[in-house]
Amino acid sequence: MFFTLNYHIINRAICDKIAISEEAFEQQLAYLREHGYTSLSLAQAIADIDGTQKAPSRSILLTFDDGYADTAHVALPLLQAYGMRAALFVITGYIGQSNRWNTRACYDAQHMNWNDLRHWHASGGDIGGHSHLHYCMTRLGYDELQETVRRNKRLIEKETGVSPRAFAYPYGRFNQAVIDVVRQQYELAFATDDGQWNTNANRYAINRLTVSPTWTIETFARQLQFRYLHVHTLESAN
Ligand SMILES: [Zn+2]
Repeated sequence: MFFTLNYHIINRAICDKIAISEEAFEQQLAYLREHGYTSLSLAQAIADIDGTQKAPSRSILLTFDDGYADTAHVALPLLQAYGMRAALFVITGYIGQSNRWNTRACYDAQHMNWNDLRHWHASGGDIGGHSHLHYCMTRLGYDELQETVRRNKRLIEKETGVSPRAFAYPYGRFNQAVIDVVRQQYELAFATDDGQWNTNANRYAINRLTVSPTWTIETFARQLQFRYLHVHTLESAN
């Protein structure tokens, strides 16, 4: 079993609950390396859930949402420097644009372009779907759900040649109708708080721990230890 961390923006100039400084991110990667954590590929995570190849005991899945340019230009070189990898869940409707769609943000953040995304993949990064326009999916009807999931996946396939196997729900929100559509296209899907830590319980509702910019490295370490013990208790109970 493994547990999953979630990031969005790595940029010290942005003050928001989804933005972490370069220094904090690097400290976290150093912590993971020093403490023997293996960062899984999506294929390894899927194989672990399928039971075809169990993940090492200290396994973690690093994920980024939305597809900001800094994921390719800032996070990627740091990941490489520490021998780590991550999965990126991309919003296809805002490729190469600013984050003006996010009316809660008081800053402009640039989304990566297709070349950035191809570079991310060529450098070992995984790609997953995150819908075409990032609407909260629980408010969409069946046809709208189909459209946002399919269009997102088709565009990723067309532009990168990658057929994504995993999906992350915008805002982490989902219900059974959302799952029913996503499972037609994907092998697993990630939530944030409303899912389950037991990755074998429901592969379309896997929880992720959102890393907060308020955390010190000690808080990060405590959160990780707590999650690690929790996941191992679940595993031994299986
Ligand atoms: Zn998102």
